[in-house]
Amino acid sequence: MIKTDAVIIGAGPTGLFAVHQLGVNGLSAEVIDNLDKAGGQCIELYPDKPIYDIPAIPECNGEELTKNLLEQIKPFKPKFHFNERVQELKEDKGIWVVKTNKGNSFTTPNVIIAGGVGSFEPRKLPLKELEKFEGRDVFYSVSNKEKLKNKKIAIFGGGDSALDWALELSKDSKITLIHRRNEFRGSSRTLHELEKLKKEGKISIKTLFQIKSINEGEKLNSIILENDEGKKESVEVDTILAFFGLIMKLGPIAEWGLNIDKKAIPVNTENFETNKKGIFAVGDICTYPGKLRLILSGFHEAALASVACFKRARPNEKYKFQFTTSSKEIQERLGVSKKKE
Ligand SMILES: Cc1cc2nc3c(=O)[nH]c(=O)nc-3n(C[C@H](O)[C@H](O)[C@H](O)COP(=O)(O)OP(=O)(O)OC[C@H]3O[C@@H](n4cnc5c(N)ncnc54)[C@H](O)[C@@H]3O)c2cc1C
Repeated sequence: MIKTDAVIIGAGPTGLFAVHQLGVNGLSAEVIDNLDKAGGQCIELYPDKPIYDIPAIPECNGEELTKNLLEQIKPFKPKFHFNERVQELKEDKGIWVVKTNKGNSFTTPNVIIAGGVGSFEPRKLPLKELEKFEGRDVFYSVSNKEKLKNKKIAIFGGGDSALDWALELSKDSKITLIHRRNEFRGSSRTLHELEKLKKEGKISIKTLFQIKSINEGEKLNSIILENDEGKKESVEVDTILAFFGLIMKLGPIAEWGLNIDKKAIPVNTENFETNKKGIFAVGDICTYPGKLRLILSGFHEAALASVACFKRARPNEKYKFQFTTSSKEIQERLGVSKKKE
């Protein structure tokens, strides 16, 4: 059981800045995100696109923004739990118990939900039988390519991820690339390389096919593909990778007894608390009259929620409003004096 002043659900820009605001107020935070890295929509949906409305930054892209936010919260040494989805939220005598799908548990007086439009989840293959192989022989992302050497791999998808992994893994494994359309979406360099590997017999390509069924014993043995005309083909595989993009699901957040209005959580704009004491919602996931789904709104919301978190985490201390420019206490927390020495 991990004890902390606040659990932050979501490592998007709002969740990251919430770490900063909690840290400035002397509070610790644990951050949980379903994705394998920080940045939320900025990293997952538009890492290279320029953003023009972050105050005092005329232009930066999603990746740069995330990098800077991570740099800014370094002094507070936040603990990140990636690839974990918060599944359960329960109250125990005024304290919240937060559980993830990986079995981690946290106790805290404050939960800040910065879950954006919900957790990002991979779009999955349409065969129920594949579920039991997930994480063993069936993957929707690659976390360790070393484990994918000397395999017979079917890669599904027609975009950058499918193509890049087909090229990369063909160095050590037998690859069949399967796409339900005729055209692949990739850079001309990637498409050229794919054609070359196809000619050399290093990658087999099956277009206009989709998965129909699998042959399994203890392990995955082969898959049956079918095209629109009902033509079937069997492919020997021991591993399946599928890259069909991500969907955003409100997921478990909808089951925690919070008021929900059109997939968002109504909050009190004084402190961004939800209908449950000690549970706050900030960023894209919250709603109130006039709400703008912008990064800058999330920053403001996180600042106000962190003050309310302080009052719950330190009920015997008085909250002091302080400027970072002049507060020695905050500067110490930021390690500013150490940096100057
Ligand atoms: C194409 C595009 C362009 C944009 N351009 C701009 C712009 O120019 N300016 C601007 O201000 N805004 C822009 N936005 C909007 C901006 O990206 C969002 O307002 C911002 O990302 C919201 O941040 P957030 O931290 O609230 O949520 P998100 O960035 O959505 O992050 C939420 C995180 O929470 C995680 N999560 C959710 N539920 C769970 C759970 N149960 N367990 C674990 N993790 C969970 C998700 O995996 C995700 O990583 C743009 C959005 C898009 C899609």
